[in-house]
Amino acid sequence: MTEELDWGKLSFGYIPTDYNVRCYYRDGKWGDIEVSQSETINLHIAATALHYGQEIFEGLKAFRGKDGKVRIFRLEENAKRIIESAKGIMMAPVPVELFTEMVKKVVKLNERFVPPYGSGASLYIRPLEIGISAQVGVKPATEYLFLILVTPVGPYFKEGFKPTNICIMREFDRVAPKGTGRWKVGGNYAASLEAGERAHSLGYSAVLYLDPKEKKYLDECGPANFFAIKDGKYITPASESILPSITNKSLMQLAEDMGITVERRHIPLEELAEIQEAAACGTAAVASPVAEIDDLDTGVKYVVSKDGQPGPVVTALYNKLRAIQLGEEEDIHGWNTVID
Ligand SMILES: *Cc1c(COP(=O)(O)O)cnc(C)c1O
Repeated sequence: MTEELDWGKLSFGYIPTDYNVRCYYRDGKWGDIEVSQSETINLHIAATALHYGQEIFEGLKAFRGKDGKVRIFRLEENAKRIIESAKGIMMAPVPVELFTEMVKKVVKLNERFVPPYGSGASLYIRPLEIGISAQVGVKPATEYLFLILVTPVGPYFKEGFKPTNICIMREFDRVAPKGTGRWKVGGNYAASLEAGERAHSLGYSAVLYLDPKEKKYLDECGPANFFAIKDGKYITPASESILPSITNKSLMQLAEDMGITVERRHIPLEELAEIQEAAACGTAAVASPVAEIDDLDTGVKYVVSKDGQPGPVVTALYNKLRAIQLGEEEDIHGWNTVID
């Protein structure tokens, strides 16, 4: 059946694969890894995930390289981050070794769904942890389910690597100043749906959120971090209310490797008038270049790309990271886990 998949046309949707892997935390410890062919789970009606949002997740990708080998990008970083998310909302942390073993296993089991080199598609890996024990009072669960599903996803830029417009609106915050923004919590996404849908209906690809306390500084782009190129420097917001993106971290390293100065700091909104390039960055797109940032409340339009083309630095960083993921360039930082 995989012969029938048109890899280049796949969307960022859900296509069933052969297996998912699961592990339960009960009596204070993680059990054995289970391999499942079922696409559903059996859940208690009073599970804390359903009532009080005890749900965290991760997102990473596996690629078929130029040499035919399958590479998973920065697996350990995702393993470490989900531990922080778990601690953040009082869930049982999944040990790095267990996370790593399960990711490798689920990719191996579904190897026929890793799209071919050159298709632009990849295998998206979605680890998920939920509180499953019955609890009607507001308390953390005592039992957890950690599972990983995979699904092939198509190239992010189907019409080429082109900039899109994003917008700023002050009517919605996705997270609170000292809230859950620094963790990968499903609830943050629920809080962003209305703003996101509104932005899409107005023709914008994303909302660029401002810091929720003062609305003076840039935060991030919904499900992606934000960075800009200003006078040859890579600038990206430092904030307590954004998720530390592994893609952003990688791009910062690549920028430094290229001799570009990196500044992680508060970026006042007005500074957008002085940037030459900008992009949203995350696992889905790597870097999605920005053409224009429209402040819907003030009517100010920050035109980033005057010719509608992505800038040279964003393009170079994007190409470099993709080349490492696809095994076209040497992985000098040891970011890839090769599956054999
Ligand atoms: C997942 C996520 C990102 C991107 O992180 P990557 O590790 O680069 O994929 C950025 N912001 C938020 C809110 C996220 O949930």
